[in-house]
Amino acid sequence: MQVPLLDLKAQYQALREPIMKAVDETLASGAWILGPKVKELEGMIADRVGANAAIGCASGTDALLLSIRALHLQPGDEVICPTFTFFASAGAIVNARAVPVFVDVDEDSFNMSPAALERAITDKTKAVMPVHLFGQSAEMDPILDLCKSRGIAVIEDAAQSIGSTYKGRRIGSLGDTACFSFYPTKNLGGNGDGGMITTSSEEIESNLRMLRVHGARTKYYNEEVGFNSRLDAIQAAILMIKLEHLSDWAKARQTNARNYDEALGPIDGIVCPKKTVEGDHVYNQYTIRVQKGERDALREHLKEHGIGSEVYYPYPLHLLPAFQCLEGMEGDHPVSENAAKEALSIPIFPEMTPDQQGYVIETIKGWVAKQ
Ligand SMILES: *Cc1c(COP(=O)(O)O)cnc(C)c1O
Repeated sequence: MQVPLLDLKAQYQALREPIMKAVDETLASGAWILGPKVKELEGMIADRVGANAAIGCASGTDALLLSIRALHLQPGDEVICPTFTFFASAGAIVNARAVPVFVDVDEDSFNMSPAALERAITDKTKAVMPVHLFGQSAEMDPILDLCKSRGIAVIEDAAQSIGSTYKGRRIGSLGDTACFSFYPTKNLGGNGDGGMITTSSEEIESNLRMLRVHGARTKYYNEEVGFNSRLDAIQAAILMIKLEHLSDWAKARQTNARNYDEALGPIDGIVCPKKTVEGDHVYNQYTIRVQKGERDALREHLKEHGIGSEVYYPYPLHLLPAFQCLEGMEGDHPVSENAAKEALSIPIFPEMTPDQQGYVIETIKGWVAKQ
């Protein structure tokens, strides 16, 4: 049996007809970039996450980049983000001409540690970027408290967490902006790149709409040097079809997660992902910890048995060559460094059959028994 980490072909086959129809309609309309389809999707996403506005852009990375630029920071201003996250979180900070400051995560959640955040705040801190990693909200109340009292902006990196909630509030409505990605591996993935920013601030919304079209609020009257970062109408049309299935897909992921929790939870040396906040975890990834230095061995064993897995993420950002200029050192953020050695994401996609999941579970149990 083969179990990929994610089965995008199965998703496409299930939706092929409506997608082909929507693509044909969009192409026939002649409006291929932004336009009515993108506007319609923006309205749906804003409603969905409970924000006043949504602004489509070219990718989740650009959503972060535009969000930071929309704050009009000064040279030397700092933006704090976790060191255990996808590269784009911090890459966007640098490309927005701000200085990234890395903080450690909490062991149980893989998300930004509010205590580490408090220690890292300086007079230069102008924004904080909590990442809702793997589909679970960061611990937002303490983060929002720390930021609001100091006038620091909060940019949610919600690329992996569309549809998740925190204490009854929806991800995407908590920060000054929230950034979503429609990269195909995300819970709401397009058939290509795409991104979206949500905000309830009219000023930030206006800045974002200006920045995504080269910094012009009025055509050909450019106020600043912005970007070409627009969402394609084809992607918007496809995403609207998929949006109808998002809740069901999240439920299927949650069911798969419960099955894993029950089957793998009791195993010594394997730690299942924990629910650390009150709210819906949407399991963009189901990320276990494999202790005792055995992570790579288990991954190899899964591969030999036709099961896909991935290490998200093998390096904390402060140890990457790209950020050497910030002089991060081994030992600076020990929880993240350990997570990078233990984390292993296993198949959780909604189309996974009970047989496939049973096979993954038995293969892991078989490996554990031989240790
Ligand atoms: C995927 C992702 C991004 C970037 O999104 P793209 O659409 O791939 O540019 C940013 N942050 C996190 C946490 C992500 O998972």
